[in-house]
Amino acid sequence: MLSQKKIASLGYCRRCINQVYHVHLERQDVMVYPSVYECRKCGMVRNIVAEVPFFRRWKLFLAHK
Ligand SMILES: [Zn+2]
Repeated sequence: MLSQKKIASLGYCRRCINQVYHVHLERQDVMVYPSVYECRKCGMVRNIVAEVPFFRRWKLFLAHK
């Protein structure tokens, strides 16, 4: 499972989290930082995922590398 703490420390955009962890987080599933940043994975300036709200976290149970 992908933990909340892990997500916050990744600094990845949603697309990269989906790709790396094989999950399907959609735009409405995540909270992003108020500004855009460079994703640590793909290097693109995007909305970086800060948090997944509690009621969406079940999706993270399916996460794996
Ligand atoms: Zn990315």
